[in-house]
Amino acid sequence: MSDTLIRNVRIFDGERLVKANAVVLRGGLITEVGVDLSPPSGVKTVDGRGGTLLPGLIDCHVHARLGNLEQALAFGVTTELDMYNRPEVAGGLRAAAAGRADVADCRSSLQGAVPPGGWLFKDAPVVAGPAEAVAFVQARIREGADYIKVFVDPGGRPIGLSPETLRALVDAAHAGGKRVLAHAESATAARRFIEAGGDGLAHVLQDLAPDAALLARLRRNGDFVVPTLRLSALASGAGDAARRQLFDHPRLGPFLDPRVRRLVAEDPPRLPRLDFAGALRTTRLLHGAGIPILAGTDAAAGIPARESPVWWVAGHGIALHHELELLVQAGLGPVDALAAATALPARCFGLNDRGRIASGRRADLLLVDGDPTKEIKATREIVGVWRSGGRLDRKAHRATFAETDVDRSFRSLGRNSHAKGGDV
Ligand SMILES: [Zn+2]
Repeated sequence: MSDTLIRNVRIFDGERLVKANAVVLRGGLITEVGVDLSPPSGVKTVDGRGGTLLPGLIDCHVHARLGNLEQALAFGVTTELDMYNRPEVAGGLRAAAAGRADVADCRSSLQGAVPPGGWLFKDAPVVAGPAEAVAFVQARIREGADYIKVFVDPGGRPIGLSPETLRALVDAAHAGGKRVLAHAESATAARRFIEAGGDGLAHVLQDLAPDAALLARLRRNGDFVVPTLRLSALASGAGDAARRQLFDHPRLGPFLDPRVRRLVAEDPPRLPRLDFAGALRTTRLLHGAGIPILAGTDAAAGIPARESPVWWVAGHGIALHHELELLVQAGLGPVDALAAATALPARCFGLNDRGRIASGRRADLLLVDGDPTKEIKATREIVGVWRSGGRLDRKAHRATFAETDVDRSFRSLGRNSHAKGGDV
């Protein structure tokens, strides 16, 4: 990998625009950030005039297969945080991310805990009480989970995890140095999780109507929220036009796996249970109260089939550009929306080697035309993507996703779930 000087750019450092206009990348790291830096000898120079350099984007809620990591990187997402995976699949992702320059890096919760009765993921470990909760967390930590995921009221079912079980899950995770994220759909489920000491909400799918007591508890916990607004927007039909615009974008569409493109030719099935307006209201209120809001898409594993309940959240990487637009719609300024996909997730997930343009951080970078700190849609005007200092050859890049048995199981689930009105 050659050393690089990128110059004549605006620099959004993960939190704000800074005075510098040039960076040097060396040995996979950012080694210098400054004004009008002159090229050290033997260094390749990229003139980014008119553009903005950002930290590579972090998608805080995905479900990934190998082809998905390739797709993500092509759209400037350099790190994906997976929120459910079998250990052998996650191990393959980790090995690919360590050995290949053309895939996004990945972290995973591995399998999440579900209440008795199970859920969408047929292989999900069922946790029926506090003792099982402790055993569940210890098993995930042994398998190498980066954080712990729990499903409090999956599929909008009544809450299936008692306060005691949730507390046992959270305490065991914290004892092992791991954060805990929840799929909690109803306000009651979210409150129960937060009161148990949980760290992050992996969705806002309804109006959580947070009151002063809940906000105080969120602050005391140091909690963060990943609203996945795109999911509610598409489930309600409010996101269809934006999705088409995104997939037809001249600098995005050509890099999309054609199988994903085919999936979005028609409007997706609806999930009336998800309340997009309520999710927007809640996100606005939480952001106004100073709770960290992070960008996540819930992009689905593989290429879900049309009949699958999750097919419309297909589109790793590209979907994050839609989520950023929706975060701005929810009341975040463009700078806050960009921070929600860079410095803030790095801080909230303890990824201290990335998420910022600063000396010593990983050289994971996105160069775009225009100024996304003024107009968020400028993140789509992708000029270049660097991962660990290596520039992705976007023109040569083609995702090579291969269908897996996991994706076939999603298909059969899709048919089952549609018969009973859909599931997420
Ligand atoms: Zn998910």
